Amino acid sequence: MDVSTNLAEINAIIEESCQKVNRQPDEITIIAVTKYVTIDRTKEVIDAGIVNLGENRQEGFMEKYNSFKEQVNWHFIGSLQTRKVKDIIEKVDFIHSLDRLSLAKEINKRTTKTVGCFVQVNVSGEESKHGLDPKNVLSFIEEVAVYTNIRIVGLMTMAPYTDNKQLIHNVFRELRELRDTVKAKQFNHAPCEYLSMGMSNDFDIAIEEGATHIRIGSKLVGSNK
Ligand SMILES: *Cc1c(COP(=O)(O)O)cnc(C)c1O
Repeated sequence: MDVSTNLAEINAIIEESCQKVNRQPDEITIIAVTKYVTIDRTKEVIDAGIVNLGENRQEGFMEKYNSFKEQVNWHFIGSLQTRKVKDIIEKVDFIHSLDRLSLAKEINKRTTKTVGCFVQVNVSGEESKHGLDPKNVLSFIEEVAVYTNIRIVGLMTMAPYTDNKQLIHNVFRELRELRDTVKAKQFNHAPCEYLSMGMSNDFDIAIEEGATHIRIGSKLVGSNK
């Protein structure tokens, strides 16, 4: 399928999900996850009008960045090794995987600009998932305040792979409640307005639960190189 056909289908689902809960489609930012696909396919994504791209590995990120540079906003969505921060930091607009103080320290050290970060939270508690335990998120965000180049713009999570829609709803709802708690603190360094949640299989549920940034890979671009 061409990207614009897939995008039309995704936009229809976004609209439908927004309607259910009285939200507006323009509250939702689509991040096209291009990790599975070639430069040519990525160009199709940009030609279809997408202005936010996401990559989850440093190598893939560099390859795509070098092709498209400032044409789009760049989101780093995968777990980030501390030693790779210096390679990407001046190129990314947002990091979705802040999950430890050592990473915050390195980001702060390697740049002089303000970097928008989402704190990754392991809501479902699955061992395979990265991210902070929800109960540690607030104190973590308080501790990040000393790293003055970091702005906590929101929270990010990944739902478990399951057909159990209620479970997925619960995971996303818990992240939203946590976001509300942090936001209510009105930290200068952590406005924490955004929710990065929802992928190809569950972005409709994520939108119903308040997602502002959905990360769509396979449903938009396909999954084979
Ligand atoms: C790959 C990936 C996505 C997109 O996954 P799809 O199911 O293909 O939409 C979203 N978020 C993260 C962190 C990813 O690694």
